Amino acid sequence: MTETTKFEITEEFLRAIPKTDLHCHLDGSLRPATILDLADKQGVQMPANDVEGLRKAMRAGEMCDDLVDYLRAFDITCKVLQNEEGLRRAAFEVAEDAAKENVRYLEVRYAPILHTNQGLRLDQIVQAVLDGLNDAERKYDIKTGLIICGIRNMTPETSLRIAELAVAFKNRGVVGFDLAGAEHNNPAKDHREAFYLIRNNNINVTIHAGEAYGPESIHQAIHMCGSQRIGHGTRLKESGDLLNFVNDHRIPLEVCLKSNLQTRATPSLSAHPFRFYLDLGLRVTLNTDNRLVTDTTVTDEYLLAVKHFDLNLDHIRWLMVNGFKSSFLPFREKRILMRRVVKEFEELVVKHSNRQKKPKTKKSDEPPRAEA
Ligand SMILES: [Zn+2]
Repeated sequence: MTETTKFEITEEFLRAIPKTDLHCHLDGSLRPATILDLADKQGVQMPANDVEGLRKAMRAGEMCDDLVDYLRAFDITCKVLQNEEGLRRAAFEVAEDAAKENVRYLEVRYAPILHTNQGLRLDQIVQAVLDGLNDAERKYDIKTGLIICGIRNMTPETSLRIAELAVAFKNRGVVGFDLAGAEHNNPAKDHREAFYLIRNNNINVTIHAGEAYGPESIHQAIHMCGSQRIGHGTRLKESGDLLNFVNDHRIPLEVCLKSNLQTRATPSLSAHPFRFYLDLGLRVTLNTDNRLVTDTTVTDEYLLAVKHFDLNLDHIRWLMVNGFKSSFLPFREKRILMRRVVKEFEELVVKHSNRQKKPKTKKSDEPPRAEA
């Protein structure tokens, strides 16, 4: 530990390390300029005609009243995601943005039912997004997977229909099923038939839980719906017993720090259980939730964690490994990717620590050199 404690964890280092994003909503992660361009092409009215105005209208990065208030921004983005071109472009660009900050494995999620307003069929809606992700995989060093979301505040029949869609796309890019939307008053158990179908077909499950409701919601997600990962899990700390179960069974938590602040899942970062979970050894991962609506990146989330929770290099390595370990990749692929990223991480530590040592050995009369 003596060597690692001396290492300064810079933004540059955090950007360079291989990362995952396991919790990233397609419709919350568009580029503002793309929204405006698509709106223009499609003749759709937007609340503003310039990037800054649009950011403001979406309240990107700002505090919301609660989760329901936060979800309003998605009404704007979904307006331009009603044709195949928009969906394919949005999917390509979210993967491109992730690849450019060295996210090597990205799981994008969205609710296909929200993209049927102009008559697209559900299979077209899924295929367009898969095509966009595949385009990005061909161009960049990134692997992707798609998670299909049902919506808590829609009917259980709708969720079942969407679950059937996920089954149809199994082994064709869809890697999991999720339940998103307003958590309060909309228990996951209402949708258990959809989850039964998903589990019966050996498809992975992750559920948003413990974000806008207490540990009962996480309990239901795990024990009634078979969730293998938990989206957020911020309020898991309220039940020691369940927390131990989650830890003992190595159930990963998809933590999204900045989003948790905005939706008031936590009143402040100092009240967030992130460090508590980390110290207990829970399988914690760091994720964006929404690149645009939350105004964040994976690098930003790591940086936020380093600053507020006093993390060292061992914590960073642990978080990175947790991300890859928790992915819905097939085991063999996961093992190959993990070996590669751990090696790369160690090489980056050596490279950056040599750089950090450099100024001390520099001769005083040597002119300063620009960093490559
Ligand atoms: Zn989410």
